[in-house]
Amino acid sequence: MSKYQSVRGTRDLLGKTKKTFRSIEHIAYETAQNYGFQEIETPIFEFSEIFHRAMGETSDAVSKETYTFKDRGDDSITLRPEGTAGVVRAYVSEGLAQNNPNKLYYYGPMFRYERPQKGRYRQFYQIGVEVLGLENPLADVECIDLAYSILKKLQLQNRCQLEINTLGDTESRHNYRQALVDFLTPLKSQLSADSQVRLEKNPLRILDSKDENDRKLIANAPQMENYLSETSKKFFETVLHGLTELNIPYKVNPKLVRGLDYYCHTVFEFVTTELGAQGALLAGGRYDGLVETLGGAKTPGVGWASGVDRLTDLLESTMNLETRKPVSIITLGDKALTVGLKIARDLRAKNTYCEVFMTGNFKKKLEKANKLQTEKAILIFEQENGSMEFKIKDFSTGTETATTLEAIQKM
Ligand code: AMP
Repeated sequence: MSKYQSVRGTRDLLGKTKKTFRSIEHIAYETAQNYGFQEIETPIFEFSEIFHRAMGETSDAVSKETYTFKDRGDDSITLRPEGTAGVVRAYVSEGLAQNNPNKLYYYGPMFRYERPQKGRYRQFYQIGVEVLGLENPLADVECIDLAYSILKKLQLQNRCQLEINTLGDTESRHNYRQALVDFLTPLKSQLSADSQVRLEKNPLRILDSKDENDRKLIANAPQMENYLSETSKKFFETVLHGLTELNIPYKVNPKLVRGLDYYCHTVFEFVTTELGAQGALLAGGRYDGLVETLGGAKTPGVGWASGVDRLTDLLESTMNLETRKPVSIITLGDKALTVGLKIARDLRAKNTYCEVFMTGNFKKKLEKANKLQTEKAILIFEQENGSMEFKIKDFSTGTETATTLEAIQKM
Protein backbone atom coordinates (compact mmCIF):
# COMPACT_ATOMS: atom_id res chain seq x y z
CA MET A 1 0.00 0.00 0.00
CA SER A 2 1.24 3.46 -0.85
CA LYS A 3 2.18 5.64 2.09
CA TYR A 4 0.45 8.54 0.37
CA GLN A 5 -3.20 8.97 1.18
CA SER A 6 -5.75 11.70 0.57
CA VAL A 7 -5.89 14.40 3.25
CA ARG A 8 -8.29 13.65 6.13
CA GLY A 9 -11.79 14.82 5.28
CA THR A 10 -11.18 14.74 1.52
CA ARG A 11 -12.00 11.89 -0.81
CA ASP A 12 -11.66 10.75 -4.39
CA LEU A 13 -14.94 10.75 -6.27
CA LEU A 14 -15.11 7.96 -8.78
CA GLY A 15 -17.30 5.23 -10.22
CA LYS A 16 -20.93 5.26 -9.13
CA THR A 17 -20.40 8.05 -6.61
CA LYS A 18 -19.01 10.40 -9.24
CA LYS A 19 -21.80 9.45 -11.65
CA THR A 20 -24.42 10.19 -9.00
CA PHE A 21 -22.74 13.55 -8.30
CA ARG A 22 -22.80 14.48 -11.94
CA SER A 23 -26.37 13.46 -12.43
CA ILE A 24 -27.54 15.42 -9.35
CA GLU A 25 -25.67 18.46 -10.60
CA HIS A 26 -27.17 18.03 -14.05
CA ILE A 27 -30.73 17.82 -12.71
CA ALA A 28 -30.15 20.87 -10.50
CA TYR A 29 -28.62 22.85 -13.36
CA GLU A 30 -31.45 22.04 -15.79
CA THR A 31 -34.12 22.84 -13.23
CA ALA A 32 -32.45 26.13 -12.32
CA GLN A 33 -32.39 26.99 -16.04
CA ASN A 34 -36.14 26.39 -16.20
CA TYR A 35 -36.50 28.92 -13.39
CA GLY A 36 -34.45 31.49 -15.30
CA PHE A 37 -31.19 31.19 -13.35
CA GLN A 38 -27.84 31.91 -15.02
CA GLU A 39 -24.78 29.93 -14.04
CA ILE A 40 -21.89 31.69 -12.32
CA GLU A 41 -18.52 30.23 -11.35
CA THR A 42 -16.44 32.23 -8.93
CA PRO A 43 -12.86 31.39 -7.86
CA ILE A 44 -12.44 28.81 -5.11
CA PHE A 45 -10.35 31.31 -3.15
CA GLU A 46 -10.87 34.96 -2.32
CA PHE A 47 -9.16 37.52 -0.13
CA SER A 48 -9.84 36.38 3.44
CA GLU A 49 -11.48 39.68 4.22
CA ILE A 50 -14.41 38.83 1.93
CA PHE A 51 -15.44 35.93 4.16
CA HIS A 52 -14.61 37.76 7.37
CA ARG A 53 -16.81 40.67 6.41
CA ALA A 54 -19.59 38.61 4.83
CA MET A 55 -19.92 35.88 7.39
CA GLY A 56 -18.91 37.78 10.51
CA GLU A 57 -15.90 37.05 12.68
CA THR A 58 -18.04 35.17 15.16
CA SER A 59 -19.48 32.53 12.89
CA ASP A 60 -17.95 29.10 13.45
CA ALA A 61 -17.30 28.86 9.74
CA VAL A 62 -14.89 31.81 9.89
CA SER A 63 -13.53 31.61 13.42
CA LYS A 64 -12.69 27.90 13.48
CA GLU A 65 -13.15 26.29 10.11
CA THR A 66 -11.51 28.25 7.32
CA TYR A 67 -8.47 27.21 5.34
CA THR A 68 -6.58 30.48 5.42
CA PHE A 69 -3.01 31.09 4.31
CA LYS A 70 -0.64 33.79 3.15
CA ASP A 71 0.17 33.48 -0.54
CA ARG A 72 3.61 34.28 -1.96
CA GLY A 73 2.60 37.91 -2.40
CA ASP A 74 1.79 38.08 1.33
CA ASP A 75 -1.95 38.41 0.76
CA SER A 76 -4.23 36.56 3.16
CA ILE A 77 -6.25 34.08 1.13
CA THR A 78 -9.13 31.83 2.19
CA LEU A 79 -10.51 28.77 0.42
CA ARG A 80 -14.24 29.43 0.17
CA PRO A 81 -16.23 27.80 2.97
CA GLU A 82 -19.50 28.60 1.17
CA GLY A 83 -20.71 30.14 -2.06
CA THR A 84 -22.75 33.22 -1.20
CA ALA A 85 -19.90 35.57 -0.21
CA GLY A 86 -18.03 34.98 -3.49
CA VAL A 87 -21.17 35.41 -5.59
CA VAL A 88 -22.02 38.66 -3.82
CA ARG A 89 -18.41 39.85 -4.23
CA ALA A 90 -18.73 39.11 -7.96
CA TYR A 91 -22.08 40.90 -8.09
CA VAL A 92 -20.41 44.01 -6.72
CA SER A 93 -17.07 43.83 -8.53
CA GLU A 94 -18.60 42.88 -11.91
CA GLY A 95 -21.25 45.60 -11.66
CA LEU A 96 -24.11 43.12 -12.07
CA ALA A 97 -26.56 45.48 -10.32
CA GLN A 98 -27.48 47.06 -13.64
CA ASN A 99 -29.07 43.74 -14.71
CA ASN A 100 -31.15 43.36 -11.55
CA PRO A 101 -32.81 41.17 -10.62
CA ASN A 102 -29.95 38.67 -10.89
CA LYS A 103 -30.82 35.02 -10.52
CA LEU A 104 -27.60 33.04 -10.22
CA TYR A 105 -26.85 29.33 -9.94
CA TYR A 106 -23.52 27.76 -8.97
CA TYR A 107 -21.91 24.40 -8.31
CA GLY A 108 -18.49 23.67 -6.89
CA PRO A 109 -16.26 22.59 -4.02
CA MET A 110 -16.26 24.30 -0.62
CA PHE A 111 -13.71 23.88 2.16
CA ARG A 112 -14.20 23.76 5.91
CA TYR A 113 -11.87 22.47 8.57
CA GLU A 114 -14.58 20.54 10.42
CA ARG A 115 -14.34 17.22 12.23
CA PRO A 116 -14.85 14.73 9.41
CA GLN A 117 -17.56 12.09 9.72
CA LYS A 118 -20.18 10.49 7.48
CA GLY A 119 -21.83 13.32 5.52
CA ARG A 120 -19.27 15.87 6.70
CA TYR A 121 -16.13 16.47 4.70
CA ARG A 122 -13.41 19.09 4.60
CA GLN A 123 -13.80 19.42 0.86
CA PHE A 124 -17.44 19.08 -0.06
CA TYR A 125 -19.62 20.22 -2.94
CA GLN A 126 -22.57 22.52 -3.07
CA ILE A 127 -25.14 23.48 -5.61
CA GLY A 128 -26.65 26.83 -4.76
CA VAL A 129 -28.67 29.78 -5.97
CA GLU A 130 -28.74 33.47 -5.16
CA VAL A 131 -31.41 35.98 -6.15
CA LEU A 132 -30.21 39.57 -5.91
CA GLY A 133 -32.38 42.64 -6.24
CA LEU A 134 -35.81 41.32 -5.27
CA GLU A 135 -37.33 42.38 -1.96
CA ASN A 136 -40.66 40.67 -2.61
CA PRO A 137 -41.24 37.80 -0.16
CA LEU A 138 -42.49 35.79 -3.12
CA ALA A 139 -38.88 35.71 -4.36
CA ASP A 140 -38.20 33.61 -1.24
CA VAL A 141 -41.10 31.38 -2.26
CA GLU A 142 -39.77 30.96 -5.81
CA CYS A 143 -36.34 30.08 -4.41
CA ILE A 144 -37.79 27.46 -2.07
CA ASP A 145 -39.99 26.19 -4.90
CA LEU A 146 -36.88 25.66 -7.04
CA ALA A 147 -35.25 23.73 -4.18
CA TYR A 148 -38.38 21.63 -3.77
CA SER A 149 -38.58 20.94 -7.52
CA ILE A 150 -34.99 19.70 -7.55
CA LEU A 151 -35.63 17.48 -4.53
CA LYS A 152 -38.78 16.17 -6.23
CA LYS A 153 -36.88 15.35 -9.40
CA LEU A 154 -34.41 13.47 -7.22
CA GLN A 155 -37.39 11.75 -5.58
CA LEU A 156 -36.28 13.01 -2.20
CA GLN A 157 -39.32 15.14 -1.34
CA ASN A 158 -40.75 12.49 0.97
CA ARG A 159 -37.42 11.75 2.60
CA CYS A 160 -36.94 15.26 3.96
CA GLN A 161 -38.92 18.05 5.55
CA LEU A 162 -38.86 21.80 4.99
CA GLU A 163 -38.38 23.71 8.22
CA ILE A 164 -38.78 27.45 8.13
CA ASN A 165 -38.50 30.41 10.48
CA THR A 166 -38.16 34.16 10.38
CA LEU A 167 -35.46 36.27 11.96
CA GLY A 168 -37.37 39.46 11.15
CA ASP A 169 -35.90 42.78 10.10
CA THR A 170 -32.89 44.44 11.77
CA GLU A 171 -34.99 46.12 14.42
CA SER A 172 -36.93 42.99 15.35
CA ARG A 173 -33.75 40.97 15.52
CA HIS A 174 -32.07 43.60 17.67
CA ASN A 175 -34.95 43.62 20.16
CA TYR A 176 -35.10 39.85 20.26
CA ARG A 177 -31.37 39.55 20.70
CA GLN A 178 -31.58 41.83 23.73
CA ALA A 179 -34.43 39.79 25.22
CA LEU A 180 -32.44 36.61 24.74
CA VAL A 181 -29.33 38.09 26.36
CA ASP A 182 -31.42 39.32 29.32
CA PHE A 183 -32.90 35.84 29.70
CA LEU A 184 -29.63 33.91 29.37
CA THR A 185 -27.18 36.14 31.25
CA PRO A 186 -28.31 34.94 34.71
CA LEU A 187 -27.90 31.35 33.42
CA LYS A 188 -24.51 31.97 31.83
CA SER A 189 -22.48 29.71 34.13
CA GLN A 190 -24.77 26.77 33.28
CA LEU A 191 -24.32 27.16 29.52
CA SER A 192 -21.80 25.11 27.55
CA ALA A 193 -18.42 26.74 26.97
CA ASP A 194 -19.29 27.41 23.32
CA SER A 195 -22.60 29.01 24.22
CA GLN A 196 -20.97 31.23 26.83
CA VAL A 197 -18.86 32.68 24.04
CA ARG A 198 -21.93 32.91 21.77
CA LEU A 199 -23.78 34.84 24.48
CA GLU A 200 -21.21 37.60 24.09
CA LYS A 201 -20.81 37.46 20.34
CA ASN A 202 -23.78 35.86 18.58
CA PRO A 203 -26.50 34.94 21.11
CA LEU A 204 -29.04 33.81 18.50
CA ARG A 205 -26.79 30.87 17.69
CA ILE A 206 -27.37 29.45 21.17
CA LEU A 207 -30.85 28.53 19.92
CA ASP A 208 -29.45 25.87 17.63
CA SER A 209 -26.89 24.55 20.11
CA LYS A 210 -26.58 20.76 19.99
CA ASP A 211 -25.66 20.59 23.69
CA GLU A 212 -28.35 18.76 25.72
CA ASN A 213 -28.12 21.07 28.71
CA ASP A 214 -28.16 24.20 26.54
CA ARG A 215 -31.30 22.88 24.93
CA LYS A 216 -32.99 22.46 28.31
CA LEU A 217 -32.02 25.99 29.32
CA ILE A 218 -33.38 27.57 26.16
CA ALA A 219 -36.66 25.64 26.24
CA ASN A 220 -38.26 28.57 28.09
CA ALA A 221 -36.38 31.33 26.29
CA PRO A 222 -38.34 34.20 24.75
CA GLN A 223 -39.71 33.43 21.28
CA MET A 224 -38.78 35.45 18.21
CA GLU A 225 -42.41 35.70 17.10
CA ASN A 226 -43.20 37.98 20.04
CA TYR A 227 -40.56 40.47 18.92
CA LEU A 228 -41.44 40.74 15.25
CA SER A 229 -42.39 44.13 13.85
CA GLU A 230 -45.62 44.34 11.86
CA THR A 231 -43.68 44.44 8.56
CA SER A 232 -41.67 41.38 9.56
CA LYS A 233 -44.82 39.47 10.50
CA LYS A 234 -46.48 40.36 7.22
CA PHE A 235 -43.37 39.32 5.28
CA PHE A 236 -43.34 35.90 6.92
CA GLU A 237 -47.08 35.42 6.44
CA THR A 238 -46.72 36.14 2.73
CA VAL A 239 -43.95 33.54 2.44
CA LEU A 240 -45.96 30.88 4.28
CA HIS A 241 -49.09 31.66 2.27
CA GLY A 242 -47.10 31.35 -0.97
CA LEU A 243 -45.74 27.96 0.10
CA THR A 244 -49.24 26.74 0.89
CA GLU A 245 -50.53 27.95 -2.47
CA LEU A 246 -47.71 26.09 -4.22
CA ASN A 247 -48.40 22.94 -2.23
CA ILE A 248 -45.00 22.90 -0.57
CA PRO A 249 -45.32 21.29 2.87
CA TYR A 250 -43.43 23.06 5.68
CA LYS A 251 -43.03 23.12 9.42
CA VAL A 252 -42.33 26.36 11.28
CA ASN A 253 -39.38 25.77 13.59
CA PRO A 254 -38.92 28.76 15.95
CA LYS A 255 -35.46 27.49 16.95
CA LEU A 256 -34.08 27.55 13.41
CA VAL A 257 -31.59 30.41 13.25
CA ARG A 258 -28.80 29.39 10.82
CA GLY A 259 -25.17 29.93 11.70
CA LEU A 260 -24.30 33.02 9.72
CA ASP A 261 -24.62 36.62 10.76
CA TYR A 262 -26.03 37.90 7.50
CA TYR A 263 -29.48 36.31 7.50
CA CYS A 264 -32.73 38.25 8.05
CA HIS A 265 -36.43 37.46 7.56
CA THR A 266 -36.79 34.00 6.02
CA VAL A 267 -34.46 31.15 7.03
CA PHE A 268 -35.12 27.58 6.00
CA GLU A 269 -33.67 24.09 5.83
CA PHE A 270 -34.67 20.83 4.23
CA VAL A 271 -33.72 18.20 6.81
CA THR A 272 -33.67 14.43 6.74
CA THR A 273 -33.54 11.94 9.58
CA GLU A 274 -31.72 9.42 7.39
CA LEU A 275 -28.19 10.78 7.73
CA GLY A 276 -27.75 10.80 11.49
CA ALA A 277 -26.36 14.04 12.85
CA GLN A 278 -25.74 15.52 9.41
CA GLY A 279 -29.41 15.96 8.59
CA ALA A 280 -29.34 19.32 6.76
CA LEU A 281 -29.66 18.65 3.03
CA LEU A 282 -30.30 22.16 1.83
CA ALA A 283 -30.30 25.43 3.69
CA GLY A 284 -30.74 29.09 2.99
CA GLY A 285 -32.45 32.34 3.67
CA ARG A 286 -32.70 36.03 3.04
CA TYR A 287 -29.71 38.34 3.45
CA ASP A 288 -30.75 41.90 2.70
CA GLY A 289 -27.67 43.54 4.27
CA LEU A 290 -24.92 41.46 2.70
CA VAL A 291 -24.31 43.33 -0.55
CA GLU A 292 -23.82 46.56 1.39
CA THR A 293 -21.39 44.82 3.75
CA LEU A 294 -19.29 43.92 0.72
CA GLY A 295 -19.20 47.47 -0.62
CA GLY A 296 -22.24 47.50 -2.93
CA ALA A 297 -25.45 49.50 -2.79
CA LYS A 298 -28.14 48.26 -0.43
CA THR A 299 -29.62 45.25 -2.26
CA PRO A 300 -31.98 42.54 -1.11
CA GLY A 301 -30.83 38.95 -1.53
CA VAL A 302 -32.13 35.46 -0.96
CA GLY A 303 -30.64 32.06 -1.71
CA TRP A 304 -29.78 28.54 -0.59
CA ALA A 305 -27.11 25.90 -0.89
CA SER A 306 -27.32 22.15 -0.83
CA GLY A 307 -24.62 19.59 -0.08
CA VAL A 308 -24.20 17.29 -3.07
CA ASP A 309 -22.20 14.83 -0.94
CA ARG A 310 -25.21 14.38 1.32
CA LEU A 311 -27.67 14.11 -1.56
CA THR A 312 -25.36 11.49 -3.05
CA ASP A 313 -25.18 9.58 0.24
CA LEU A 314 -28.98 9.35 0.16
CA LEU A 315 -29.30 8.49 -3.51
CA GLU A 316 -26.27 6.42 -4.38
CA SER A 317 -27.91 3.07 -3.77
CA THR A 318 -31.24 3.92 -5.41
CA MET A 319 -30.54 6.33 -8.25
CA ASN A 320 -31.26 5.05 -11.73
CA LEU A 321 -28.07 5.83 -13.55
CA GLU A 322 -28.08 5.48 -17.28
CA THR A 323 -25.58 2.84 -18.41
CA ARG A 324 -24.57 3.32 -22.02
CA LYS A 325 -23.94 0.18 -24.01
CA PRO A 326 -21.02 0.40 -26.39
CA VAL A 327 -20.59 -0.66 -29.97
CA SER A 328 -17.57 -2.91 -29.42
CA ILE A 329 -14.80 -3.32 -31.95
CA ILE A 330 -13.09 -6.68 -31.78
CA THR A 331 -10.05 -7.23 -33.92
CA LEU A 332 -7.69 -9.99 -34.96
CA GLY A 333 -4.23 -8.81 -36.01
CA ASP A 334 -2.23 -5.58 -35.51
CA LYS A 335 -3.33 -3.92 -38.71
CA ALA A 336 -6.97 -4.76 -37.93
CA LEU A 337 -6.58 -2.89 -34.65
CA THR A 338 -5.54 0.29 -36.46
CA VAL A 339 -8.50 -0.07 -38.86
CA GLY A 340 -10.70 -0.59 -35.79
CA LEU A 341 -9.42 2.62 -34.17
CA LYS A 342 -10.26 4.53 -37.34
CA ILE A 343 -13.79 3.13 -37.51
CA ALA A 344 -14.26 3.90 -33.81
CA ARG A 345 -13.09 7.48 -34.31
CA ASP A 346 -15.74 8.02 -37.01
CA LEU A 347 -18.52 6.44 -34.93
CA ARG A 348 -17.49 8.44 -31.86
CA ALA A 349 -17.63 11.61 -33.95
CA LYS A 350 -21.31 10.74 -34.52
CA ASN A 351 -21.71 10.56 -30.73
CA THR A 352 -21.72 6.76 -30.53
CA TYR A 353 -20.05 5.17 -27.52
CA CYS A 354 -17.47 2.82 -28.95
CA GLU A 355 -15.00 0.47 -27.22
CA VAL A 356 -11.87 -0.88 -28.91
CA PHE A 357 -10.14 -3.68 -27.01
CA MET A 358 -6.35 -3.54 -27.10
CA THR A 359 -5.42 -6.58 -25.04
CA GLY A 360 -6.28 -10.26 -24.86
CA ASN A 361 -6.99 -12.83 -27.55
CA PHE A 362 -10.13 -12.76 -29.70
CA LYS A 363 -12.15 -14.79 -27.21
CA LYS A 364 -11.13 -12.57 -24.28
CA LYS A 365 -12.15 -9.50 -26.27
CA LEU A 366 -15.60 -11.01 -26.90
CA GLU A 367 -15.95 -11.69 -23.18
CA LYS A 368 -15.04 -8.09 -22.33
CA ALA A 369 -17.59 -6.78 -24.83
CA ASN A 370 -20.24 -9.03 -23.31
CA LYS A 371 -19.42 -7.75 -19.83
CA LEU A 372 -20.04 -4.18 -21.01
CA GLN A 373 -23.50 -5.27 -22.23
CA THR A 374 -22.58 -4.81 -25.87
CA GLU A 375 -25.52 -5.41 -28.17
CA LYS A 376 -23.64 -5.07 -31.42
CA ALA A 377 -19.95 -5.60 -32.22
CA ILE A 378 -17.89 -4.97 -35.31
CA LEU A 379 -15.46 -7.83 -35.88
CA ILE A 380 -12.38 -7.12 -38.00
CA PHE A 381 -10.15 -9.98 -39.20
CA GLU A 382 -6.82 -9.40 -40.88
CA GLN A 383 -6.40 -11.86 -43.79
CA GLU A 384 -3.11 -13.47 -44.80
CA ASN A 385 -2.91 -11.25 -47.88
CA GLY A 386 -3.26 -8.17 -45.63
CA SER A 387 -6.86 -7.36 -46.59
CA MET A 388 -9.61 -7.00 -43.95
CA GLU A 389 -12.76 -9.01 -43.46
CA PHE A 390 -15.65 -7.40 -41.56
CA LYS A 391 -18.54 -8.93 -39.67
CA ILE A 392 -21.31 -7.60 -37.43
CA LYS A 393 -22.06 -9.69 -34.38
CA ASP A 394 -25.48 -9.46 -32.77
CA PHE A 395 -24.97 -10.33 -29.11
CA SER A 396 -28.62 -11.07 -28.41
CA THR A 397 -28.79 -13.87 -31.01
CA GLY A 398 -25.08 -14.66 -31.37
CA THR A 399 -25.31 -14.39 -35.17
CA GLU A 400 -22.46 -13.00 -37.22
CA THR A 401 -23.13 -11.37 -40.59
CA ALA A 402 -20.48 -10.51 -43.17
CA THR A 403 -20.33 -6.81 -44.07
CA THR A 404 -18.11 -4.21 -45.78
CA LEU A 405 -16.16 -1.18 -44.66
CA GLU A 406 -18.51 1.04 -46.69
CA ALA A 407 -21.58 -0.38 -44.89
CA ILE A 408 -19.88 0.18 -41.52
CA GLN A 409 -19.02 3.74 -42.44
CA LYS A 410 -22.72 4.40 -43.03
CA MET A 411 -23.67 3.17 -39.52
P1 AMP B 1 -24.36 25.72 5.22
O1 AMP B 1 -23.62 26.62 4.28
O2 AMP B 1 -23.58 25.33 6.43
O3 AMP B 1 -25.75 26.16 5.50
O4 AMP B 1 -24.52 24.35 4.41
C1 AMP B 1 -25.38 24.20 3.32
C2 AMP B 1 -25.43 22.74 2.98
O5 AMP B 1 -24.13 22.28 2.60
C3 AMP B 1 -25.81 21.86 4.13
O6 AMP B 1 -27.20 21.73 4.21
C4 AMP B 1 -25.15 20.55 3.81
O7 AMP B 1 -25.96 19.80 2.93
C5 AMP B 1 -23.90 20.97 3.08
N1 AMP B 1 -22.70 20.96 3.96
C6 AMP B 1 -22.30 21.90 4.82
N2 AMP B 1 -21.13 21.55 5.40
C7 AMP B 1 -20.79 20.36 4.89
C8 AMP B 1 -19.68 19.46 5.07
N3 AMP B 1 -18.67 19.75 5.89
N4 AMP B 1 -19.65 18.32 4.36
C9 AMP B 1 -20.66 18.01 3.51
N5 AMP B 1 -21.73 18.81 3.28
C10 AMP B 1 -21.79 19.97 3.95
